[in-house]
Amino acid sequence: MAFYVTTPIYYVNAEPHLGHAYTTIAADVMARHHRQRGEEVFFLTGTDEHGEPVADAAHALGVEPQELADRNAKRFKALAPQLSASNDFFIRTTDPQHEAKVQEVLTKVRDNGFVYEGTYEGWYCPRCADFKAENEIDPGNLCPIHHIELNREQEQNYFFRLSDFQGALERLYAEREDLVLPRTRYNEALAFIRSGLRDVPLTRQRLRWGVQVPWDHDHVFYVWFDALLNYYSALSYAREGEDLTDRLWPASYHLIAKDILRFHTVYWPALLMAAELELPEHVFVHGYLLMDGEKMSKSLGNVLDPFAVIARFGADALRFYLLREVPFGQDGSVSTASFELRYESELANELGNLASRTIGMLSRYREGLASTGELDPVLAADFDGLPERVCAHIDRAELTLALDEIWQRVRRLNRYVEECAPWTLAKDPERAGELDLVLRSLLEGLRSVTVLLWAFLPTSTERLLEALGAPERSITHAALGAGRIERVAEIAPLFPKDAQAAEA
Ligand SMILES: [Zn+2]
Repeated sequence: MAFYVTTPIYYVNAEPHLGHAYTTIAADVMARHHRQRGEEVFFLTGTDEHGEPVADAAHALGVEPQELADRNAKRFKALAPQLSASNDFFIRTTDPQHEAKVQEVLTKVRDNGFVYEGTYEGWYCPRCADFKAENEIDPGNLCPIHHIELNREQEQNYFFRLSDFQGALERLYAEREDLVLPRTRYNEALAFIRSGLRDVPLTRQRLRWGVQVPWDHDHVFYVWFDALLNYYSALSYAREGEDLTDRLWPASYHLIAKDILRFHTVYWPALLMAAELELPEHVFVHGYLLMDGEKMSKSLGNVLDPFAVIARFGADALRFYLLREVPFGQDGSVSTASFELRYESELANELGNLASRTIGMLSRYREGLASTGELDPVLAADFDGLPERVCAHIDRAELTLALDEIWQRVRRLNRYVEECAPWTLAKDPERAGELDLVLRSLLEGLRSVTVLLWAFLPTSTERLLEALGAPERSITHAALGAGRIERVAEIAPLFPKDAQAAEA
């Protein structure tokens, strides 16, 4: 089994912000979860470095585009480890191996008869690096995303025969209803296809900052085609001396935000068909994190700094909050107030306290030594089928639902403590067997949810599994009763209330 997940490559002109962190975190949860299932996993992220906006910004700064790209790519590369993201490679579209692969694939598309020369005229947003169709221009001739005025542009281009794929794309969507998830995004992409596809420019003539068109050196490839091909090119050179393409292509999941839906759900499959390459299994379109009701983006100036959150509370807390607060796949609001509320009520109180009181009681009543034997059938019934349900949700990229399945058990364990009142049992020597049963069931429940939470909270769960003396975290050890705890060790609070002081 192989699992290949990608984030979009991030446009190097932007500063890394919470929106980038969000997609990277989601991809990382999926990658880690599939590694727990023993699959061969490849997780790709990187930077998109060509195109007019980079050339313009470099010009304004009086530097070469490559210099600006180098400078800014570093910040995105630094973002991944800060989020505890376990990406296997970081691709840059200025990598010479990527550029060579783009030329190879697009030459094949041309050889297959899907490229011709023509003139294009239309309304162009330099920030999107894209022409806008008449029906997607805001009043005042503005870009609906960037709220800036569009330019009327005309140029000689090579075109990609997207219109040739009208029928093939409609058939593809009919056959593969889970190609695009969630369903609303599938419907949106299909509606766009059904509205009638027009050919699109494949190259740009006036621009120099891009991958050169091998059959006409006056042109570079349009940045979107160059960028999309990163998902394919990376596999050929990510691992020194090895080509992973045969093992890992096609991608299992491309994770994207909805602003780049059309490129990934229409142009991308058409391009792959034109190049005779296999299509991805799923494109999952997540929503926007909203602040003050608008999409969070640098150009709109309403950015919540993920670095500040991580510096104070750690990456686990940010990962948890984003996937818990906003149902993955929908738009939702985020704020520092709701972050702090979830941190305190859920991470610190529900999970953190469950861990410290469970370990504390075993230390106090049994000197840290766990007993062996049956588990409480009442608790076991509530854990029945849990790992399977979590896997099924993650298979559909339903990360919030998966997290909720686990969190319901965290709450169940807290109720179990209250119901059984081990402190009362401990006072009565005749109820020692009962106390052992409760403590052992509680510990095993804690271990089970901790294994399942690892993909979401890698740092704190590794600490906790260590304290439980049960470091094994494969999915086969996730079920209640699948583990074995002998002795526990004291552990400092996983999510300290005074997070600032704990950050050291
Ligand atoms: Zn725009």
